Amino acid sequence: MNINNPTADQETHFFSDVCKNFDHAAQFTKHDAGLLDQIKSCNSVYRFRFPIRKGNSFEVIDAWRVEHSHHQSPTKGGIRYSEMVNEDEVMALAALMTYKCAIVNVPFGGAKGGIKINPKSYSVGELENITRRYTVELIKKNFIGPSIDVPAPDYGSGEREMGWIADTYATMNPGQLDALGAVTGKPISLHGIAGRREATGRGVAIAVRECVSVGEDMQKIGLTAGLSGKKVIVQGLGNVGYYSAKFLSEFGAVIVGLCEFEGAIYNEDGLDVEAVFQHRKSTGSILGYAGAKQEFKNTMDGLEQPCDILVPAALENQITAQNIGSIKAKIIAEGANGPTSPEAEEAFYKAGGMIIPDMYANAGGVTVSYFEWLKNLSHVAFGRINRRFEENSNLNLVNMVEGITGVPLTPIQRATIVKGASELELVNSGLEDTMIRSYHEIREIYKSNPAIGTLRNAAMVGAINKIAVSYQNLGVWP
Ligand code: GLU
Repeated sequence: MNINNPTADQETHFFSDVCKNFDHAAQFTKHDAGLLDQIKSCNSVYRFRFPIRKGNSFEVIDAWRVEHSHHQSPTKGGIRYSEMVNEDEVMALAALMTYKCAIVNVPFGGAKGGIKINPKSYSVGELENITRRYTVELIKKNFIGPSIDVPAPDYGSGEREMGWIADTYATMNPGQLDALGAVTGKPISLHGIAGRREATGRGVAIAVRECVSVGEDMQKIGLTAGLSGKKVIVQGLGNVGYYSAKFLSEFGAVIVGLCEFEGAIYNEDGLDVEAVFQHRKSTGSILGYAGAKQEFKNTMDGLEQPCDILVPAALENQITAQNIGSIKAKIIAEGANGPTSPEAEEAFYKAGGMIIPDMYANAGGVTVSYFEWLKNLSHVAFGRINRRFEENSNLNLVNMVEGITGVPLTPIQRATIVKGASELELVNSGLEDTMIRSYHEIREIYKSNPAIGTLRNAAMVGAINKIAVSYQNLGVWP
């Protein structure tokens, strides 16, 4: 899909691209062909249509929910609200969710939903009707529930929509104690979790920071180790792109380019992400931002400007055989799902680059969704029970050390040491730990056999092995 011209091509190769990646990686595993086929297939594809009232007339909406793999329950994945959504895309995204969850050790199968609308063409009331009706259709077919299938936000949806889903599900299941665990990415006031909104972007930034911290790998692609001063271009200023850019710049990178569907801006000395975001919010366009040295009407031109790291965080199929030769970055970090075509990936590695693959790079969202689901099932916010206890223990320790050494701490030092962890701090630390450990798991596989060739293959090999073990544990396969 071309972000500039979304109606141009209704391509249907995304799921087969994901399967190609799977088949390629499967060669490096030792599993039975039947088991591999079971892992790869989409288990359940539910396509449905429902009417909604729009003004004085009715409109029929196309929608999907795909549960790719039931090796773990519940299945998990976002709901995409987009005019361009189609069955192939939802299947591909559901499959990516399965592999993504396995890679970051989140105990869910993969799923994805799609509602074929342009949310901007509907009033808030109409969007609420569509979302609630979509939820009812899922309930009717047992395609939603805290132990069945748990939706979340995706492109075109957010906390507001998840709130409507939670309310509809809870209303239709009176007395179900865990009803709020039927959807994640909810507003905090509706039992969502601190840090979920930023989680995918924060995860992308941690993934990039971890990747560039490995000197040996950076040397091979002609970069120095460390994020400080690295030049980054980000495509997409939606939830994932905005937070990726924000945290990357907080971690020391320089955001030199930002691209949106209306165009791109560039400044080799750096752009102020927050100021660009506010400029776009008030003018409706990324173009015209005073701090940019160059502007491009075509978002694709923005991707091709000089940088060390490119973060495509918009839609799939943005980097293809056609434009890969013009990409100057040495690292592509896939914030979006499926932004790089298999042909482009091959060419990029041949030219000495490396790609941090989507199924790992953007797994921060589902990781924190997992924490939210745990919070909903346990009916208590993280930190609530132990925080004060922790603070009292820390206080006793600080008083004791001060007493023994006779050296008093400053009030700021004292407050920092004594303070118990908040929910946000716990979530962020769990996310960071997950992203760092998973990166090194993937890297170990990548290094174990040069024929594996790419981090995507390595991530997929790891995912296949973990899913195979789940099937074996279920007693389904010997
Ligand atoms: N839509 C997000 C993704 O693609 C989040 C999924 C979730 O939190 O379940 O990873």
